[in-house]
Amino acid sequence: MSFNIEKVRADFPILQQQIYKHPLIYFDNAASTQKPRQVIEAITWYYEHDNCNIHRGVHYLSVKATEAYEETREKIRAFINAKKSCEIIFTKGATESLNLVASSFGKRYIKPGDEVITSIMEHHSNFVPWQQMCLERGASLRILGINEKGEIDLDELKKLLNKKTRLIALTHISNVLGTINPVKEIVAIAHQHDVPVLLDGAQGVSHLPVDVQDLDCDFYCFSGHKMYAPMGTGVMYGKERYLEELPPYQLGGEMIKEVFTGRSTFNELPFKFEAGTPNVEGVAGLRAAVAYLQDLGMDNISSYEDDLLKYATEKMSAIGGIKFYGTSHHKASVISFLIGGTHPYDAGMIIDKLGIAVRTGHHCAMPLMDFLKIPGTVRASFAFYNTTEEIDQLVSAINKVKEMLL
Ligand code: PLP
Repeated sequence: MSFNIEKVRADFPILQQQIYKHPLIYFDNAASTQKPRQVIEAITWYYEHDNCNIHRGVHYLSVKATEAYEETREKIRAFINAKKSCEIIFTKGATESLNLVASSFGKRYIKPGDEVITSIMEHHSNFVPWQQMCLERGASLRILGINEKGEIDLDELKKLLNKKTRLIALTHISNVLGTINPVKEIVAIAHQHDVPVLLDGAQGVSHLPVDVQDLDCDFYCFSGHKMYAPMGTGVMYGKERYLEELPPYQLGGEMIKEVFTGRSTFNELPFKFEAGTPNVEGVAGLRAAVAYLQDLGMDNISSYEDDLLKYATEKMSAIGGIKFYGTSHHKASVISFLIGGTHPYDAGMIIDKLGIAVRTGHHCAMPLMDFLKIPGTVRASFAFYNTTEEIDQLVSAINKVKEMLL
């Protein structure tokens, strides 16, 4: 192992507590990750030293807060290897980033009869905005299916692509199945047809090193809170040539250049897409989170979480009577499962009482649940602060569920 797990765990104050007299085991990382002390302290530092509205003032605090905010933009640029920092737009999360692209891209490029391709494994945040935009503009949403392992079929994608296709909007990693989609290959196929690709990176950035230039994707959207940063922060990356052409998403202060009574002109990138006062404290925390991840190293994180996933898959398979949803070899640290015929909520309640936080339900992926013909799953999702000992506890908890409910 390339980092000291005890030292890492000590950085997360919330993990030190007991739940129902059991040490907290947090396996709900796909919903939101916990925050290290460094992130919490960055927020306190911001309010104790730097707090001020940004971009508008000439006084000391305003300049300082603005510089810190813009330095974070540069830090994010480097983190995902975007070409320019003006391609990094701060939002309140992946959902807002995805809505922004759907709304602006739709207005600029989508006409009646056009098509947008997405997949059945999408989170509602990367499904409903495209569905509604297509309905509003008389376009069609084409939906890629998956095989029994939870993988997309590239031949099906090639068949769906045609002259009417305007965009592919796809998740990098499924929040339910854990499948890591072959996004680089998909982008290459799409670009042969001059079709841009948006990737929902909400589950991608926290688990894998992401290089948007290497992937060559046209948009990449993610949330801060799933990568150890505060809630209410997020990023929409877009290639400059698209961002220049897209109309603004929200209107108001900061995103304008000039306002007259009868018309307005809009600011340059990235400010054109950042109307109003942003979440400056959150971005201070986001900067600390990225620094934390860079310190550990995304390659180290990825391989440690891979080991956890393999360990958990092996131990849980040995229990017997568990049905797994998502069994691709290209998988990140998510295990969705059902225990015999038990309802996911019943299983989740028992597991919770043993101090283990797992998520139950449809995981904001109702089209996928319909496709799988199930009401939901139990989902354990791992982060770099989890341990194999915690997974052993989950295995005991599942055995307890079997004893009580089967
Ligand atoms: N996309 C995926 C794959 C997700 O897992 C999530 C959240 O679970 C989202 C989008 C939405 O993220 P947020 O609620 O942070 O905007």
